[in-house]
Amino acid sequence: MTQTLSCDLLVIGSGAGGLSAAVTAAFHGLKVIVAEKEPVFGGTTAWSGGWTWVPRNPLAIRAGIAEDQEAPRTYLRNVLGNNFNEEKVDAFLEAAPRMVAFFEEKTAVQFEPGLKIPDTYGNMPGAGTGGRSVIAAPYDARKLGNLVHRLRTPLRETTFLGMTIQAGPDLAAFMNVTRSPRAFVHAARRVGRHLVDLAFYRRGMQLRNGLALVGRLLRSAADLGVILLSSSPAVRLLKEDGAVRGAVLRSEDGEIEVRAGRGIVLASGGFPHDHERRRRMFPAHEQHFTLAVPSATGDGARLGESVGGVVDESLAAPGAWCPVSLVPFPDGTTGRFPHIIERGKPGIIGVLANGRRFCNEGNGYHDYVEAMLRAVPPGQEVASWLVCTHAFQRRYGLGIARPAPLPVGPYIKSGYLKTGRTLAELARNAGIDPAGLERTVAEFNRHAARGEDPEFGRGSTIYNRYQGDAGNEPNPCVAPLAPGPFYAVRVVPGSFGTFAGLKTDGSARVLDAAGAPIPGLYAAGTDMASVMGGHYPAGGINIGPAMTFGYIAGMHTAGQAGDDGQVLV
Ligand SMILES: Cc1cc2nc3c(=O)[nH]c(=O)nc-3n(C[C@H](O)[C@H](O)[C@H](O)COP(=O)(O)OP(=O)(O)OC[C@H]3O[C@@H](n4cnc5c(N)ncnc54)[C@H](O)[C@@H]3O)c2cc1C
Repeated sequence: MTQTLSCDLLVIGSGAGGLSAAVTAAFHGLKVIVAEKEPVFGGTTAWSGGWTWVPRNPLAIRAGIAEDQEAPRTYLRNVLGNNFNEEKVDAFLEAAPRMVAFFEEKTAVQFEPGLKIPDTYGNMPGAGTGGRSVIAAPYDARKLGNLVHRLRTPLRETTFLGMTIQAGPDLAAFMNVTRSPRAFVHAARRVGRHLVDLAFYRRGMQLRNGLALVGRLLRSAADLGVILLSSSPAVRLLKEDGAVRGAVLRSEDGEIEVRAGRGIVLASGGFPHDHERRRRMFPAHEQHFTLAVPSATGDGARLGESVGGVVDESLAAPGAWCPVSLVPFPDGTTGRFPHIIERGKPGIIGVLANGRRFCNEGNGYHDYVEAMLRAVPPGQEVASWLVCTHAFQRRYGLGIARPAPLPVGPYIKSGYLKTGRTLAELARNAGIDPAGLERTVAEFNRHAARGEDPEFGRGSTIYNRYQGDAGNEPNPCVAPLAPGPFYAVRVVPGSFGTFAGLKTDGSARVLDAAGAPIPGLYAAGTDMASVMGGHYPAGGINIGPAMTFGYIAGMHTAGQAGDDGQVLV
């Protein structure tokens, strides 16, 4: 039986892109329905670090970091090169600060600033040295009431006992529990409270990172009367007289036809799990291990194409890459761990099967995978090994094998970490060329003793140094690998999600093959081709644009836009 619902705006997907559009439109008076495929809301956004790149945001300005739009624009022009889309970049840079101000002032979404987080390519003109990112402030899930049962739980691999930890002082405290009484007290308090939450609620309630963002967006949406439908995937768009007027959802009670007077926002999280499209667009990744939620199967792209939309295949890279290791869990499942933090610390290197280094390991995650794809000879499996000493592992951790005082033994037993008393023994156990690895480490150590890395320049950028350990002198990113025993973990290409997506204009409207907007159809988040053109200029460049173009779409559908498409506030 088909049920019919009507609204002004239908949003498909409940991550950053979708919820930002929904909250903005509802605040400006529209009746909004959010349809989510899964029983839980939040998508990959809920699994993310939650960092949001929004240059010239009000938090930075309040902290005294003032810059004009030209600085981030110059930076993007330099990094994006041929993929610089002036209309979209300008729309993003212009609306991003107003998006943050809107959420701060009018909704439950509050932020903390990232005042010291630099852009990735510090040597490029216009690169920021801090203040261009924000993160949702921690959130107490009790404030969600019954909605908490419909909020996605965090990604198992990146939590500690199911508890999310925020990059910055929170993470630093966990990394230093054995070195600082203050850090110990902080971590003990957090863990103690978490255990109580587990006992009472069977889930973590101290939301951090992307989960805090989703929690706050959901609270705001519910406060504004947004209808939140879970387990209701959109399966068809309804097009009449050339305009998209609604969609059909599939629910447990049959189909629901939703009429949407002002239009539809596609925000279904891109196509990281669409194997067919991936095979075509990621030909170099014979195996690819995405970190995105399994429900991100490319529905938005297919729905958009069904009414004349076009997926932009011209981006520098179709996905937002991240090196991942595969984790054999005791329950027989295999986890995927994102290597974000430890690659930049002093005393670790990345090598190929021939034992050779191939990049500056402290650069961005996307760049590490790009370098791996370039360096591995054709026909060989794309993989590399992160190699370090026992002392490094105890200090900083290696992948999911966390630092002291947590035990490393289970990860050796499970085969996740390979180990050896000597480099040659490690290499034999890991399947790396022993002579190659010994030569590489001898050469690396010779320079590392003086804090130098002439081959790849580890520590040469402000981003490198931020990822390093300020206490390690003279170079926070470089230290010799000695003495043993040694560990290695195998890393393979993975992704946070996709960059390629539907072609849109600066108002988030989906464009047809002739470049004309399809009336009534918008895309936000990873369903739209990334404004970063397939590059990764800074952490937070997925969620920053997702929130901003969601806001732009919400404003546009609510009629809060001028003739030139610029949103007014
Ligand atoms: C571990 C990790 C850390 C990350 N850290 C960061 C970070 O700090 N900063 C950053 O910028 N990026 C980060 N990312 C990437 C970022 O999380 C994503 O790019 C972003 O959250 C995607 O948002 P979205 O709104 O496009 O999609 P999502 O958040 O994935 O939401 C899409 C939703 O749509 C639903 N859906 C799918 N099909 C349908 C359908 N047919 N009908 C209805 N609903 C549908 C999905 O179930 C999902 O809930 C990280 C990713 C990971 C995995």
